[in-house]
Amino acid sequence: MKMKNCEITVAKSAGFCFGVDRAVKMVYNELGRNTRVATLGPIIHNQAVVDDIKAKGARVVEDVDELLPEETVVIRSHGVGREVYEKIAEKGFRMLDATCPFVSKIHKIVSEKSKEGYLILIAGDVNHPEVQGIIGHCNQKFIVFKDKIELKHVFEKNPDFFEKKLAFVAQTTYNIIEWGECLKVIPKSCPDIVVFDTICSATDTRQSDAAELAKSSDVMLVIGGRHSSNTVKLFEVCSRYCTTYHIENTDELSSLKLPCAGRIGITAGASTPAYIIKEVKTTMTDNVNLTANQDEEIDFATALDQSFKKVYTGEKVKGIVVGIGNTEITVDLGTKYTGYVKLEDLTDDVTKKPADLVAVGDEIDLIVVKANDNEGTVALSKRRVDEQAGYDTVVKAKEEGTVLEGVVSRVVNKGVTLSYLGVRVFIPASQTGLPKNADLEQLAKQKVEFKIIEVDEGGKKRAVGSIKKVEDEKREAARNEFWDNAEIGKTYVGKVKSLTSFGAFVDLGGIDGMVHISELSWNRIKHPSEVVSIGDTLEVYIKELNREGNRISLGFKKAEDNPWAVFTSNYQVGDVVKATIVSITSFGAFARIIDGVDGLIHISQIADEKVENVSDYLAKGDVVDVKIKDINVEKQRISISMRDLIESEDNSEDEE
Ligand code: SF4
Repeated sequence: MKMKNCEITVAKSAGFCFGVDRAVKMVYNELGRNTRVATLGPIIHNQAVVDDIKAKGARVVEDVDELLPEETVVIRSHGVGREVYEKIAEKGFRMLDATCPFVSKIHKIVSEKSKEGYLILIAGDVNHPEVQGIIGHCNQKFIVFKDKIELKHVFEKNPDFFEKKLAFVAQTTYNIIEWGECLKVIPKSCPDIVVFDTICSATDTRQSDAAELAKSSDVMLVIGGRHSSNTVKLFEVCSRYCTTYHIENTDELSSLKLPCAGRIGITAGASTPAYIIKEVKTTMTDNVNLTANQDEEIDFATALDQSFKKVYTGEKVKGIVVGIGNTEITVDLGTKYTGYVKLEDLTDDVTKKPADLVAVGDEIDLIVVKANDNEGTVALSKRRVDEQAGYDTVVKAKEEGTVLEGVVSRVVNKGVTLSYLGVRVFIPASQTGLPKNADLEQLAKQKVEFKIIEVDEGGKKRAVGSIKKVEDEKREAARNEFWDNAEIGKTYVGKVKSLTSFGAFVDLGGIDGMVHISELSWNRIKHPSEVVSIGDTLEVYIKELNREGNRISLGFKKAEDNPWAVFTSNYQVGDVVKATIVSITSFGAFARIIDGVDGLIHISQIADEKVENVSDYLAKGDVVDVKIKDINVEKQRISISMRDLIESEDNSEDEE
C-alpha cells in the first residue's frame, strides 16, 4: 500500500443493515443474560464478529441435532425452512428467531403462492442459506436460477411452463441490475405470472450508493466476508465503474496496489461491523499522513516509537472517553492505539445507550479484549472490569455470608438464574425455598434475597446461590426471637398454615403453634375446617409453652364470647323466648335459645295434656315460644316449658 494525497470517502450505507444489526444484537443481548446460546450457522458472514460472540460463550452449530440441553438456539437473519422450526419445537429447545422480516415476508409469499398452485421461481444462489430457507417454505415444485441466462434456459427446456401459474421472487441480496434483466426474459405469453420484488431496500440502497461512489472514484474498496453474498454483489457492481478490491479487514490493505493519489471509495457489506470500516479508513488515513510527513522531512519515527506503548489482551488500562456513538465509544489510551468499546462491552443493560453511561472526558477503567498491533486498534471492555468487580463482591459476599438481592432472569433446567453485578448466579431448585416439584416459573422476574454458597474458582465468573439459606436463617432468627419473648397469655396474629383432625397450625412468624380443635369454637365441631381455613388470619394467645419440645399450644376462644356467659348476662328465669328445636328424645326436645346454649323441654312441658310421643308435637327445626323455668349455671342446664305458656294463656282467658 503506497498512498498520499488521497481523498477517501466511505459510502453512506456501508456496513450493518437493519436485519444483521438486529440479529447480532439479539445474540449479544441473550449472551448478556448469561443464557447458553447456539447460533444455527454463523450469525453473519463476518469472522471477527463470529469469533467475538464465540469468545463470549456462544456456540455455532450446523444442525438442530448438535444442540445441547438448556441451549437457546438463534435463527440467523437468513432464515430457515419450515422443517427446522418443526424440529426445534419437537425437541423443545428455546428459540430466538432473528430471521430478517424481509426474508420472513418471502417465506410467507412462497408458502401462500405454493398453496394456490403456483410454481415458485427464485432468483438467487441455490447454495445460499437464505435461498435454502426459502425453498423450505415452498410446498410444491420450485426452480432456482442464478441469472437471466439460466432463466432463459428454464423456459427453453420447459415449454409447458407457458401454461403454468408462475410466481417470481428474488433473494433479498440479489443484484438489482440482474433482476431487471431477468424480468425482461420472462415470456409475455405466460398467462398467469406474478412477480414479487423482494430485493431488500437496504441492499438496493447500498448497491446504488456504491455504484454512485464507484463512478466518481479511482479505486473502490469493498469490505466484507468472502462468503458474504451481498459483499460479492457490491464488488460486482463497483467493478463496473473502477478498479475494485474486495478485502475482509485491514490486514489485507498492505497487499493492495493502491494509487499514490486520487479518490478512493469505501463501501462494505451488510455483515461488516462499523469498527472494521473505521479501522480500514483510519489505517489508510494514517498512511497518507505518514507519507506526507516524510515529504516534509519531519522525523516522526522517533516520536512515534516513544508514544507507542504496547497493550496486551487481558491488560487493565485507563482511557479517556473522546467520542460517543450510538453503538460504541472511542477512548484515548495515551498510546498510538485507537481504543473503542462496543455497547455490549460497556454494559449488560440492554436499555442503555453509550451516552447514558459515559461522557466525553470521563476516565474509565477498561480491559483489553483484543489488541491489533498492525492496525493500531484495540477493542476494550468496561463490562469485564465491572464483572471482575462484581465477581470480587460475590466472593466477599460468600466469605462474609452477606445477603444479596437480585431479580431472577431465567428458569432453566433444575433451577433458576440471575445476574448479580454481571456474575451469573445459578440457584438450584432445591435451594429456591420452594417445595419439591413446585413450578419454578413463579420465581421468574421476581426480586429475591439469596446467599452465595459456591463460587466458580475457575475464573468463569459464576456462582451458586441459595434463597432457602436466607429463608432458613430468617426462620431460625424468628424462632429465637419468639422463644426469647414468648410468655403465657401473650397474643399473636398469625396465619393458618395447615389443618389436621385435631387442630389448626398457625404461623406466628417463623414458628408454628397449634390451636386444638376444642379451642377453635365454643360449639362442638367435628373438624377445624368448620370454623377456619388455610390462610385465615387469627388472633391467638399462648396457652402453654415447651421450648425443649418446640411445642406451643395456642388458645383462640375468648371468655367474653362464651355462650353461657352471654346467656346468663342476658336471660333469667321467667323470660319468654323463641327457641329452635335441635333434637328430639324420648323424654323431651332440646331447643336452641342462642348459639351454643340449648334448653330442655321435658315431655311433661310440651302440652297441657299427656304426651305419649314427642314427635307428634314437635319436629327438628320448629321454632317455638318457651318460658325459662330454671337455669343451673353449675351444670350448664336450662329447663324450658311450652306448657307454662299455654296455661298462662288459659288463665288470662278465664279472667276475661
Ligand atoms: S440485507 Fe436486507 S434482507 Fe438481508 S438481513 Fe439485511 S435488511 Fe434483512
